[in-house]
Amino acid sequence: MKGRSLLTLLRASLGRRALGSGASQVKEFLGASLPDKVTIVEVGPRDGLQNEKQTIPTRVKVELIDRLGQAGLKVIEATSFVSPKWVPQLADSADVLQQITKQPGVRYPVLTPNMKGLQRALAAGAEEVAIFAAASETFSQRNTNCTIDESIRRFSDISQAAKEANIRVRGYVSCAVGCPYEGKVAPGAAADVAARLYDLGCFEVSMGDTTGVGTPASIAAMFQACSEAVPLSALAAHMHDTYGQGCANVLTALQMGVSVVDSSVAGLGGCPYSPGAQGNVATEDVVYMLSGFGVQHGVDLERLVDVSSFICGALGQEPSARVSRAMLAARQRSETDQLSA
Ligand SMILES: [Zn+2]
Repeated sequence: MKGRSLLTLLRASLGRRALGSGASQVKEFLGASLPDKVTIVEVGPRDGLQNEKQTIPTRVKVELIDRLGQAGLKVIEATSFVSPKWVPQLADSADVLQQITKQPGVRYPVLTPNMKGLQRALAAGAEEVAIFAAASETFSQRNTNCTIDESIRRFSDISQAAKEANIRVRGYVSCAVGCPYEGKVAPGAAADVAARLYDLGCFEVSMGDTTGVGTPASIAAMFQACSEAVPLSALAAHMHDTYGQGCANVLTALQMGVSVVDSSVAGLGGCPYSPGAQGNVATEDVVYMLSGFGVQHGVDLERLVDVSSFICGALGQEPSARVSRAMLAARQRSETDQLSA
């Protein structure tokens, strides 16, 4: 991969997608193609709240998920069936999953880090689950107390049990470009773990820049390597905004041919294992960018900003999403104008 320019990578991606024949399916952007439609996987209720220090009441989580669905999000990661000992913030996972008003056409995947979690998730009525492995050996050992190999073996049992229960499994690869302990992660290492999760039966593998250290250059190299091992249609981008590269990295993934993007309302979250890490790229920011390209996403931005304001009010903080900050400030200005008119 070394020495190949971003443009070369993008051209390679373009070539693979046979632009000439499928031009109606893509939008052109500076010589690269963007998908006509992007699926946003909202991870705020799980990835976001799991990494916020405070615990919020079950009813607020339920309202958050229901309102995200009403704002047009079609995939909402609802919670994690992780041991309450590890993540006390999500100890009410079964209650959350059972109390939400499931809307037709909306998927509510849940994270299941182990077999016990899968069994609890199935008992609570989960219809889609997610598992995660790391592309970095040290992160895997510190985060899940097992080697990458051991984690994959563990997931093969979960995947088998999920198959028997007739539910789909989504895979996450964390530290896909950088690791808080090992530094840079080789694109081949990320692609290798992605391929193993795909081979286990994951219908989609989401590549996570857990610490947000990636730039468009490293993200392009990583997706290039992954696309040689896993079909692009089965890859998703999970970007964090720690270094302010979140939206740029999402755009790079789209240019590489990825059409599924994970994001978190208000930019909630971070990573407890990566001190100082900021949250996921904000859903509002991604939606605003996609709208600028005319890429379909199905989300009502005004309603999404309301949801952002709602959850941040419950947490007692400001949204880190730039779009929400700007739109809330504009609303306030117009209210003040009306009052003084
Ligand atoms: Zn994340």
